[in-house]
Amino acid sequence: MSPADIWMDGALLPWGEAHTSVLSHAIQRGALVFDVGALREGQDGRARLFRPREHIERFLRSASLIGLDVRWGVEALLAATLDTALRSGVSHALVRWSAFVPTPEADVVPRPSARASVAIAIITPGDVSTTAAPGEDARKLPEAIRLAISAHVRKAGPEVFPPQAKVGASYLGPMLAKREALAAGHHEVVLLDREGRIAEAPTANVFAVRGGQLVTPPLDRVLSGITRDSVLALARAEGIPARESHLTPEELVTADEVFLTATSYPVQAVAAVDGRALGAAPGPLTARLRAGMLACERGQDPRFHAWVTELGATALNPRGS
Ligand code: PMP
Repeated sequence: MSPADIWMDGALLPWGEAHTSVLSHAIQRGALVFDVGALREGQDGRARLFRPREHIERFLRSASLIGLDVRWGVEALLAATLDTALRSGVSHALVRWSAFVPTPEADVVPRPSARASVAIAIITPGDVSTTAAPGEDARKLPEAIRLAISAHVRKAGPEVFPPQAKVGASYLGPMLAKREALAAGHHEVVLLDREGRIAEAPTANVFAVRGGQLVTPPLDRVLSGITRDSVLALARAEGIPARESHLTPEELVTADEVFLTATSYPVQAVAAVDGRALGAAPGPLTARLRAGMLACERGQDPRFHAWVTELGATALNPRGS
């Protein structure tokens, strides 16, 4: 089965033909912005996109924060996304939106005439490799993971990268931190901000449970994760106290429960922080919120039906046909 076609600037192209030059500004300067959403199958067999509008809005905000001129608006990209997902014929995948300058540019700042290209790809778990600690299955994380706190790499502050811009270049520090954590036998890493407080994992937000209360760092230093926002809304709807406030490394290590949130999980339990085991993992609140989020993604929670967009019962051009 071959991967689904990639939507690129209005045309659907096979994966092998969605090319960009190695000399492109996007590759040479790392100034590609992206976003990642989820396509999930409900119990009725229908595929649903989870909060696609919020992902596309965040995607366009990222582009605008770094000055990329994207010629499509939210509605056009939403329609293109639904159509590309429907045509893919798959019901469990990630959706990746990318915007980048595809031309070679002499200067760090592209010429004013340089237009951004936009691509939308539907990516199933088998299409890309994922990382894991040495000796473990690269595609599947255990139910509760070992999390390191990076001792060497800090998250760049807002004076370096706007934290709300998902731009490729800003993942370099997190990549180095995670590489070191993987080599030391952890599954994931969390970076501190320049003030030494807990910030976020390379591609996930962090939550601690302390005294029955959820705590997650505020948005001045971390990406406004759509899963983070959903978990906070779900917790509030369930009467679980939750607050956004800074966490020290000590508070994370001594928390009752720790979990990460990201589109791809959506809630990932943590068993140990920096080698110190937490209590039961997944702990009770982690397990409850994970189950709640999975139900929301599948369209099973009527309180949050507005979060899911159904693709329809039949694909126009199922993959493999
Ligand atoms: N922080 C960063 C830096 C990320 O790249 C991601 C992944 N988009 C997240 C947090 C989690 O965001 P979301 O829940 O929207 O996937």
